[in-house]
Amino acid sequence: MKTVAIVGASLAGARAAQELRAQGFDGRVVLIGEEPHLPYDRPPLSKAFLAGTASRESLDLLDADDLASLDVRLGTRAERLDPAAGRLVLSDGDLAADGVILATGGRARALAGTESVAGVHVLRTLDDALALRDELVPGARVVIVGGGFIGAEVASTCSGLGLDVTVLEALPTPMARVLGPELGSICARLHGRNGVTLRCGASVAGLSTLSGRVTGVQLETGETLPADVVVAGIGMVPAVEWLDGSGLEIGNGVRTNTGLVTSLPNVVAAGDVAAYGPAETRHEHWTNATEQASVAVANLLAGQVVREYQPSGYVWSDQYAGTLQLAGHPSPGDEVRFADGGPDDESFLATYHRDGQTVAVFGFNNPRGFGRLRRQALRRPMPVG
Ligand SMILES: Cc1cc2nc3c(=O)[nH]c(=O)nc-3n(C[C@H](O)[C@H](O)[C@H](O)COP(=O)(O)OP(=O)(O)OC[C@H]3O[C@@H](n4cnc5c(N)ncnc54)[C@H](O)[C@@H]3O)c2cc1C
Repeated sequence: MKTVAIVGASLAGARAAQELRAQGFDGRVVLIGEEPHLPYDRPPLSKAFLAGTASRESLDLLDADDLASLDVRLGTRAERLDPAAGRLVLSDGDLAADGVILATGGRARALAGTESVAGVHVLRTLDDALALRDELVPGARVVIVGGGFIGAEVASTCSGLGLDVTVLEALPTPMARVLGPELGSICARLHGRNGVTLRCGASVAGLSTLSGRVTGVQLETGETLPADVVVAGIGMVPAVEWLDGSGLEIGNGVRTNTGLVTSLPNVVAAGDVAAYGPAETRHEHWTNATEQASVAVANLLAGQVVREYQPSGYVWSDQYAGTLQLAGHPSPGDEVRFADGGPDDESFLATYHRDGQTVAVFGFNNPRGFGRLRRQALRRPMPVG
C-alpha cells in the first residue's frame, strides 16, 4: 500500500493518521478535511471554549511532528469515492489512493426551517462555537432544544456565564436513552440546582421572529418562551451523502464488519460515522473515535480483520461543577445500584445490572472511585446494547 487517504480531518481522522505511523506505515498519508481548520478537539466547544476560558491552540489534535509526516488538505471536500478507479474525487481534483479511511463523522441536526434565522444555533464545529459564543452576552435569554449531552453542557456553560437558561426536552427525563430513567432524573435535578429551567415533555411547534431574528420558541401547548438565543441540541446526522454511488453499504452510517472494514476490503471507517457489526452500532463519543481509529488502521494495513472492535463504552460529560462518567453499555431496563453515595449526594458511584451481570458503571464527581470500580466491575468486555 503506497497511499492512504483519510477523509475527515477531525478526531477519528487525526488519530488514524497517528496510528498509521505508529503501526509502521511509511507511505503517503493524505488527510482531507472540508473545514478550513487544522484538526481540533470538539468536547471543549460546549464547555471551556464556549465559556471563553480555553484557547483555540489548546484544541489542537496534531502537533508539528504529526503534521510534517502528512499531506494535509484543508478546505477540501471529498465529493465521490470511485473504488473501481481507485480514486477519490475531491473538490480540488482527483486523488489516487490504495487505502481509504472514512472518518467523516456527522453534521448537527438543525431545527427544520430555521437555518437562516438569526440567533438560532447548532453546535458541532469550531465556527458554530464562535458564532454562538458571540451571542452569549449579558442579559441574553437562552432556550436550548434538547436535553442530551450537548444541550446539558451548553446549559451549564450559559448558566456559568450568568445567563437566563431554559432547556426543552421532549422525553419525560433527559438523557434517559443513554443513562436510563433513574440516573437521567439525577441529571434533571442538576439543572434545577444550578438555576436552569428544565421543561420535560416539551414539543417545539415553531419559532417567533422579528426582522429575521428569533424572539421566542413556540410550544405545542400554545405557550411562547421568550428567547434571544436558541440552541438546537437534537443530535447529528452521519456524513455519508457523498458516498452515494460508491457501492459501499450505507445504513445507520457506513456499514462495516466488527473489524470496521466496509464492504470494500481496502476501505475502513472509524468514529461517529462507522456503523459496525450486525446491529450497525454507531457511537458518538470521543473515546470510541480514538479506539476505532486504531482497530481500523490495523485491519486496513493487514488487508484482513486481525482485530475486532471491542467498545469500552466510555463517555464523560462536564456539567456544572461536576463530571459524569459512564463505562459499559446500559439499557433503560437495567437495575441501578448505588455503590458509594446516593442520588442526592455531591458525588456517587452506581452500577447497572442485567441478567446477573454488571453491564455498566456510572460515576458522578468521583473520577478516582469510578476508575477503581470500572476496573473491578467491568473486567470482561460487555455486550453492546
Ligand atoms: C460540542 C461537542 C461536545 C462534545 N463533548 C463530548 C464529551 O464531553 N465527551 C465525549 O465522549 N464526546 C463528546 N463529543 C463527541 C466527540 O467530539 C465526537 O464523538 C468526535 O468528534 C467524533 O469524531 P469523528 O472524527 O468521528 O467525527 P467529527 O468530529 O464529526 O469529524 C468529522 C470531520 O469530517 C469532515 N467531513 C465530513 N464530510 C466530509 C467530506 N465529504 N470531505 C471532507 N471532510 C468531511 C467534517 O467537516 C469533520 O471535520 C462532543 C461533540 C461535540 C460536537
